[in-house]
Amino acid sequence: MNFVFNFIMLKHYTIPVFIPELACPFQCAFCNQRKISGHISIPDHSEVIKIVNAHLASFKQLNRSVDVAFFGGNFTGLPLHEQEAYLKLVQPFLSSGEIQGIRLSTRPDYINPEVLNLLSSYQVTTIEIGAQSFDDKVLKKSHRGHTARQTEQAAKAIIEKGFQLGLQMMIGLPGDSLQSSLFTASRIVELGATSTRIYPTLVIKDTALHDWYKKGRYTPLSLEEAVHWTTQLLLIFEKGNVKVIRTGLHPSEGLVFGKDLVAGPYHPQFRELVLSAIWLNKLRSVISDVKHTGVEFIIPKGQLNYAIGHKGLNRLQLLNELQSVKFTESTEIKGMDFKIRRI
Ligand code: SF4
Repeated sequence: MNFVFNFIMLKHYTIPVFIPELACPFQCAFCNQRKISGHISIPDHSEVIKIVNAHLASFKQLNRSVDVAFFGGNFTGLPLHEQEAYLKLVQPFLSSGEIQGIRLSTRPDYINPEVLNLLSSYQVTTIEIGAQSFDDKVLKKSHRGHTARQTEQAAKAIIEKGFQLGLQMMIGLPGDSLQSSLFTASRIVELGATSTRIYPTLVIKDTALHDWYKKGRYTPLSLEEAVHWTTQLLLIFEKGNVKVIRTGLHPSEGLVFGKDLVAGPYHPQFRELVLSAIWLNKLRSVISDVKHTGVEFIIPKGQLNYAIGHKGLNRLQLLNELQSVKFTESTEIKGMDFKIRRI
């Protein structure tokens, strides 16, 4: 298993430039885009340059690869000349070798040959599509305004044109189920995505979902459910060699419980919870022969905290079945492999 390794050993930096689509014509039930991105205005051109320079100055590692990422809205929904203006701004950074790639996120129905030609001519490397689900029932109930078929067509066109494809998904949307989410993950693998992000659906103030939540028409996943679903999705992505670059929203993304965030499985250490759950399953699966003895688990460097569990909970769980448990870190074991030894 190497997906956790990817999470942790990144020498790769991303410079996020948030471009909220203030006039987005869609009304996805879960979205209040300006609250999610934590920004309320579109950065002007000088701000974009400032953002890139500030990030470049803050990077410690000299041996690095850097992408500028236009996130936060539907980049290719902007008029072509505005897309071009943003892309032109970062060309000098590409020419000087300070950045190596450009990525952007958009909707599947905003992909067409004209847009792809433009992005290709400005050396965009990765296009991330907000797929959210490959279940049309879920897309419809969530008011996404596009179908799974449209996402498939966009994904194929992106790959045919030579871009790297990212497909983002959400879990716990209206009408979603574990089975439906697993299906979405398998389609993401089959369509050739190289990366994905998994976003548990949150109830954000002033959205349709908020209204449905108040009326009892929508219940978000519990944190436990979201963690459980995500552990299973990660296994599919790991097997399919799709890099999981995000699970859950980042704490810096401007959501505060009781303010913008009304309900849902938000946790600032969501990824840690998921990795801890994966480690607990792995460690428990090998202790049936050594129950009630003392055991040492030898864990790859960088994985110790996840193996011991969030707040040490895995250790406590294992102590229900073992007399004693010790964790040791090793640089010789990679990925999520581990060794077990009686002590
Ligand atoms: S999530 Fe939906 S409503 Fe929000 S910006 Fe994207 S397309 Fe528009």
